[in-house]
Amino acid sequence: MPELPEVETIARGLAQNLTGDVIESVWLGNKPEPLKSPPGEIVSTLEQARIAGVRRVGKHIVVELHREEGAAGRKKKQVLRSPTPARQNRVRRGPRSAQDDNHAAQWIVHLGMTGRLLIAQPDVAVAKHTHAILRLRSGRELRFVDPRRFGRLAVVRHGFEAPGSEPLDVGLESFAGLFRQRKTPIKSALLNQSLLSGIGNIYADESLFRAGVRPRRRAASLTRGELQGLYVAVQQVLNEAIAAGGSSVSDYVDSNGDAGFFQFQHRVYGREGEPCLVCRAPIKRVVIAGRSAHYCPKCQK
Ligand SMILES: [Zn+2]
Repeated sequence: MPELPEVETIARGLAQNLTGDVIESVWLGNKPEPLKSPPGEIVSTLEQARIAGVRRVGKHIVVELHREEGAAGRKKKQVLRSPTPARQNRVRRGPRSAQDDNHAAQWIVHLGMTGRLLIAQPDVAVAKHTHAILRLRSGRELRFVDPRRFGRLAVVRHGFEAPGSEPLDVGLESFAGLFRQRKTPIKSALLNQSLLSGIGNIYADESLFRAGVRPRRRAASLTRGELQGLYVAVQQVLNEAIAAGGSSVSDYVDSNGDAGFFQFQHRVYGREGEPCLVCRAPIKRVVIAGRSAHYCPKCQK
């Protein structure tokens, strides 16, 4: 399942490749699971919308849309498309009026377990399990492919917010506050998306290893020093993973079809029975709340 670093990598790639393009038309498959908004609403929101940007919020990909108007509006737009550069700057940089906001919408993509957003030329064969195809003005297509169908597509009119705090933006005090009086294991608390948004199994295990904290420890039992260490570890792990393009476990690739390589830097995740890179003790695997947790019995207390 793609976690924060993978989604960040994908969102950055999409932002680079798609910003400024216009969605001309939309095809949706007939499987209901991937569509979290009514199909008609998805189509009417996406069609003729300009992609103003793409960013990550938690584990969601948020495509910022600017809706062009109807046929008349499009004509007007064409007049605006070949102006002098000065005019163009003024149009782009001017303050957003209330009217502008009426044209703003967001396309929210959650990749679930196996979801992928691929940029393809139209002559490339459509993969099995393709649930949506957006035809772009540039001639390319953006395709949503998801064999296991845990991914979700939705459109919203108002600012999308993930339920939990953003792990890369949250301050130490707020971070520590999330775990105060929490009786669940710290590993479960890290995975709880209503506390922190975007941390999954891999990065929770890796962060706990670096912080020297066992995954089964009650969240509330962590000392001030341990919370500070965990705070630093979470940010380090996530930033290093983003720099490496994410972790390619199972079939993760980014929007260009490139694999990430942070999996080669995993110190505990997926290394059950292998020697700890610090103390050589065999890495243990336990199951906590139905999820496997990997840790070093010597380095983590
Ligand atoms: Zn160790």
